[in-house]
Amino acid sequence: MINLTKKMYLRYLLLTVLAALMPLDAALGWSQPHLAITKAALEVLPAWQQKVLGEEMARLADDYCLIPDHVFTDRENAKFAMVEGKPKEVYLLNLHLPAQQAENLETIRYFMGKAVGSLQAQNVKDAARYMGTICHQIEDYGSPSHTMPGDNMFTLLEQFLPPTEVMRDKLLHGPVESGELTVTIRDYIPALLGTTVEEAAWRLMHRIHEGIINARSTTIPIIQALYAEDSKTVEVQQM
Ligand SMILES: [Zn+2]
Ligand SMILES: [Zn+2]
Repeated sequence: MINLTKKMYLRYLLLTVLAALMPLDAALGWSQPHLAITKAALEVLPAWQQKVLGEEMARLADDYCLIPDHVFTDRENAKFAMVEGKPKEVYLLNLHLPAQQAENLETIRYFMGKAVGSLQAQNVKDAARYMGTICHQIEDYGSPSHTMPGDNMFTLLEQFLPPTEVMRDKLLHGPVESGELTVTIRDYIPALLGTTVEEAAWRLMHRIHEGIINARSTTIPIIQALYAEDSKTVEVQQM
């Protein structure tokens, strides 16, 4: 994940979740890139929402936002990135790669509902883990390598954009997204996306879609720059 836009969704998410959770009174609110985006998003949350997260806040940015990538090694937390009743789907592809909007919405709504439910039950530990899963989804969708439904490695796209000799037989996923990401969103003011899971998930889906569109607009220029061995342009497009 390399795109700046991703981080935006991130905070919306948290905000949304935190805000949506408590309907009444005071409602509450890639590895390195995943961690950097999540941390930056958490830092712009209002103090009272950070307080609700408490000790879980640091873990969200250090660990929980990677739960969907660690489902085979971190068995204890794998369930926070799985859908109940689907024990065979340990690795839920839609948490990493956008599909049709209806499917994306369903995934967002499911995990947001779980996060909100956990918060309402005063279980901040579980809530933070579910939030980590949603952060991961939002972040992955903003990456230029996660833009082609069903073609995570661009093998089909390479038939349209034949590789150079140097790039032949190389999987493009890594080269397209890898790089350092510095996130600077200190002035961002989080927005409330809704007061119910339905409403917030719907709005979040649309915001995430803007991130997907942004990422898609960079994928081909990045691949062309990789073919041209023009690392500067790769970097510019990634940002
Ligand atoms: Zn992922
Ligand atoms: Zn990736």
